[in-house]
Amino acid sequence: MNRTRARSRAVKRVLVWVILFAMPVRSSLARQSTRSASVGQLGENAQVRAALAWFAPNLVWINDQQARLTEIPAPAFQEGQRAAVLKTLFSAAGLTVQVDATGNVIGELRGVNEKEIVVLSAHLDTVFSAGTDVKVRHEGSRMLAPGISDNGTGLAALAAIARALQEAQIKPQRTILFVADVGEEGEGNLRGMRALVDAYRSRLKAVIVLDGAGTDHVTTIALASRRLEVIISGPGGHSWSDFGMPNPINALVRGSMRFINTKVPGSPRTTFNLGQIDGGTSINSIPYQARLKVDVRSESESELARLESALRESMAAGVRDEMESPRDRSRGKLEWKVELLGSRPGGELAAGSPLLAALRASDAMVENESRIERSSTDANIPLSLGIDAISIGAGGNGGGAHSLQEWYDPAGREMGLKRALLTLLGVAEVAPERPK
Ligand SMILES: [Zn+2]
Repeated sequence: MNRTRARSRAVKRVLVWVILFAMPVRSSLARQSTRSASVGQLGENAQVRAALAWFAPNLVWINDQQARLTEIPAPAFQEGQRAAVLKTLFSAAGLTVQVDATGNVIGELRGVNEKEIVVLSAHLDTVFSAGTDVKVRHEGSRMLAPGISDNGTGLAALAAIARALQEAQIKPQRTILFVADVGEEGEGNLRGMRALVDAYRSRLKAVIVLDGAGTDHVTTIALASRRLEVIISGPGGHSWSDFGMPNPINALVRGSMRFINTKVPGSPRTTFNLGQIDGGTSINSIPYQARLKVDVRSESESELARLESALRESMAAGVRDEMESPRDRSRGKLEWKVELLGSRPGGELAAGSPLLAALRASDAMVENESRIERSSTDANIPLSLGIDAISIGAGGNGGGAHSLQEWYDPAGREMGLKRALLTLLGVAEVAPERPK
């Protein structure tokens, strides 16, 4: 970097501090903030600098926490053991900790203004079933294990940011809740975030979700999705002596073939996934049941509804095809149904929101660039209710999420941690230091 560029960067940084802590004048958050501290004071806030400086010498500790948490299995609805460790980490960071009825671990850092809350959250659960080998392996700088990145990264960052604020003795203007929440993945149906938003809704000013690795994106648009399960049942019987009896797996396959051929638009982007299929008891039995789980997502609610109808029609036709195929079907009939396992509402963060301004200012501060993304995350719940929310990666690099080959490389994670901390303080704000 040449000197002119270095100087312009330095100028840019000062400007960014001003932007970060001045916030857009139009926002209601900013209007209330004038009493907390002047821009100049915050721009040179020694406590904030101390908090940012805490990460570099503690990267080994942060990586270790990530490995330790990842090695505790946390399938949906079985997050308790991992939650207990987060509870200890939050307590050690000086937070007032409680576990709510859903299983969310909530660590409170009380602000000057207790009537306004900013949440920093990371989900506890993984997509991996109990019994999956979650032992962390190391290859070069990489850590490998199912769940290491999603959401070992978010959880480690959550604990690290709490510690950094503690070490720097930061008192926020608004109360900050550090939340390790349950039920984000799969059939958890965002139950943890639903319960949290329900409990704090009237005081909730912003929600920042830490999910996975990276710093390249900010999710501000909540992708609507539905999760459906097809269940087809029949009498079941012997493969030889009962041949002809209607077969639920046959019907499911016939219906699936029809559904797979459903046309989906590229815009609004719409997707479907046949994600899990099971049924049957043995190779030589006509099964009495077949089940299929389908995930549908779309930028448009009406496309979602259309896809759900298409699934129902396809399955009705699949059952009909099976019953009408030229065999003796007099020995029983098939029942079928489609159940809604989960529904994630859509929503979008306003372009002029103070939260997005804080994120953008933080990006500039750490010299990062990020693109707006649409995705289905914990942020769906607050966004669908008009509460400011984003979901971001917590730094470093990761890949193979939701697969057994999942990996995480912590190189450069410090920038992601700083970005998250600055965004958090950008909306929670720092209370003026008490005179010594
Ligand atoms: Zn995740």
